[in-house]
Amino acid sequence: QAKGKGRAGYVFYSAEMGAQAQFTLDVERRLQSALDGDGLRLHYQPIVNLATGAVEGVEALLRLEDDVAPPVGPATFVPVAESCGLIAPLGEWVARAACAQLADWHSRGLPLSVSINVSPLQFRRPGFAAFVRRLLAASGIAPRRVMIEVTETAVMENLAEAIAVLQEIKALGVKIALDDFGTGYSSLASLSTLPLDKLKIDQSFVRRIGSDRASRAVIDAVIALSRSLDLELVAEGIETEAALRYLRERGCHLGQGYHFSRPLPLAELEAWCAGQVLREAQALPVQKPAHGLRRLH
Ligand code: C2E
Ligand code: MG
Ligand code: MG
Ligand code: MG
Repeated sequence: QAKGKGRAGYVFYSAEMGAQAQFTLDVERRLQSALDGDGLRLHYQPIVNLATGAVEGVEALLRLEDDVAPPVGPATFVPVAESCGLIAPLGEWVARAACAQLADWHSRGLPLSVSINVSPLQFRRPGFAAFVRRLLAASGIAPRRVMIEVTETAVMENLAEAIAVLQEIKALGVKIALDDFGTGYSSLASLSTLPLDKLKIDQSFVRRIGSDRASRAVIDAVIALSRSLDLELVAEGIETEAALRYLRERGCHLGQGYHFSRPLPLAELEAWCAGQVLREAQALPVQKPAHGLRRLH
């Protein structure tokens, strides 16, 4: 009976379900089978020193590669994963894969760093810092080569708790970046209490550099803020030479965006980095190779 009832309930619910709910359910199933199988990949977007062009590191960005139509990106599937309880296993997969890749790069003498996005739900779970500690120990990588990216909104929602977790992670030697900065509601007072290393100014401002005076004003203010708080600044969403020039002239040190490269699968990222060193060597023949693919010592 219970079975019959459940079945009837399911049919009833199905008929009532909107297209959106059905889509969410499909994405949830796809995430689960990607986790069980081999459907997850990391792509890597170079983070570049704007003054020299050298690659400083990469941001790891999760991709669902399951050959099911339509393809869905993380802006779509991360919120689904957060709502259905899959974000913790997904986030752990990402962290493991990124650290394994970093260990491989380091073993081959490539001095890259990796930035890992962490969902607020993952980051607030008890034991997150312990997970990071075990991961670092198991992979043997230098903790300072790992950057954890948390969004401004995630941190500000529960500031006291966030500070405690961030301090635990930071004590491991890992770096911390505040992602999508400028879109949330940080007060300057709360910002200065966070144990941060980097601010990542949100791409919405950077992409409007050429067209919107207000966006330029926000960028100028964030550059000044990062200086006074002694934080490194990364500009996301650099799509044009003009945006690059604007940021460079104002002393923003780091950036990423389609102007340099889209997020790339592993082999393409490595090819891109190799080509980058060549171009630099040609452009700056007298500079010491204090960056790029130099050997770790
Ligand atoms: P995010 O962390 O702010 O990552 C930057 C996003 O901007 C990436 O989108 C990247 O492809 C895109 N982007 C970079 N440069 C440009 C540019 O010049 N122009 C434009 N239009 N876009 C650019 P992606 O990979 O689709 O990721 C979207 C968001 O999904 C990420 O934003 C992050 O919040 C989330 N995400 C991605 N991977 C993960 C993950 O492994 N874990 C978690 N929790 N979230 C992730
Ligand atoms: Mg990010
Ligand atoms: Mg961002
Ligand atoms: Mg984002």
